[in-house]
Amino acid sequence: MILKNIKNIHSGPEHLMKRYISAILLIIITVGGVVGESSKAQDLKPTVILISLDGFRWDYLDKFSPPTLNRLAKNGVRAKWMIPSFPTKTFPNHYTVVTGLYPQNHGIVENSVYDFGTTLTMSKREEVQNGRWWLGEPIWVTAEKQGQRAASIFWPGSEARISGITPTDWLVYNGDMPNTLRIDRVLALLDRPATTRPTLITTYFSHTDDVGHAFGPDAEETKYSVHEVDTYIERLMAGLKKRGIDNRVNVIITSDHGMANVDVRKVTFLDDHFDTEALTERIIWTSEIIQIFPKPGKLEEIYAKVKDLPHTTCWKKGEIPARLNYNDGPRVAPLICSSELGWMTNNHEWYDPWFKRLDAPERPRGAHGYDNKYQEMQATFIAHGPAFKKGFTAEPFENVEVYNIMCRILNLTPAKNDGDLSRVKAMLR
Ligand code: AMP
Ligand code: ZN
Ligand code: ZN
Repeated sequence: MILKNIKNIHSGPEHLMKRYISAILLIIITVGGVVGESSKAQDLKPTVILISLDGFRWDYLDKFSPPTLNRLAKNGVRAKWMIPSFPTKTFPNHYTVVTGLYPQNHGIVENSVYDFGTTLTMSKREEVQNGRWWLGEPIWVTAEKQGQRAASIFWPGSEARISGITPTDWLVYNGDMPNTLRIDRVLALLDRPATTRPTLITTYFSHTDDVGHAFGPDAEETKYSVHEVDTYIERLMAGLKKRGIDNRVNVIITSDHGMANVDVRKVTFLDDHFDTEALTERIIWTSEIIQIFPKPGKLEEIYAKVKDLPHTTCWKKGEIPARLNYNDGPRVAPLICSSELGWMTNNHEWYDPWFKRLDAPERPRGAHGYDNKYQEMQATFIAHGPAFKKGFTAEPFENVEVYNIMCRILNLTPAKNDGDLSRVKAMLR
């Protein structure tokens, strides 16, 4: 353009020379300016930032109108909702999102898992960091194996060596790390030179889940927590924009499950129906899903006592509805009980002192971990960036599909998984 204009200028030779020199200088400055300002943008490889907003129920976008999340949904992809895997708990679903495997196949069948003569729980660091629990191949292992770098500012599984591999950068989970610092660390990773810059970064925020548990999904407190989380995403997008890459990085925002209102006075006591001490080797309790390991020969005796409970459904392993994908896998307990939405299933030993200490028991609380058929358990999926269509609303899909979507964007060959890209590829450009 500039040269063409110069050619059309009719003047004397010295003027012509001067104009040529200024034009060349202008070109150098312009090109240099572009390279200098956004050199990061120039050599950015296909990149995914995977964000988890724990307990961010599918309808919080409409119910509470967080502005940044809705803007990203509008300019990118939003699923009507994303179907979590059963049980609708944190560890199983986070690990499903990054492996594309159902919990029965990736081994994290609950937040607490029994195997190797011991229990994995979220707070047992040495077990959380032990690769023996984490089966399948998480996306960061896929990426590292295929020559890319991954970084995790938290994600269940990221602390363990899985097939001998962790993300290049990872951190011990610390719920006290300020959420804004998590965002700034994500941005700092993108400031690295291309040779050490990760193409996959995961991060995690528990805030909406924490507040959702304390007050329930309909509370004003929960609305405020949603708006607070929105400001973290706003900070991320502003940071990307400052770097000139807000439309070049793919940002995928997921949640692990939804949240239901719970009246803590609605409770079923399993120990009112069978001798939980005498008949079992162990029971792993939560109020929403209970893993029962009967003593040898005692399964049928227990099952006879719990099969017709009014607000708790119990299944023998092998007879769990196929839609829950929970019959296989050596770690699934021989007997599983699942509470009706909004109900609790407990024993007196834990519940009675807990209830006594509780302030205002009539006030609603929130819980998840129920059957994934309930609308209240559905999760969120928003995706924004060059790989995604703009203004596309996806029909509900299962969270096993996210792994293949990320592999496609990062040009990675996926490991064996339970997803199928053809079911979700319409969201991609
Ligand atoms: P849940 O009990 O299912 O509601 O799980 C939510 C809790 O999981 C959060 O409040 C965190 O304390 C915990 N959590 C989330 N990510 C991790 C992690 N990577 N390691 C340990 N605990 C975690
Ligand atoms: Zn969760
Ligand atoms: Zn939770």
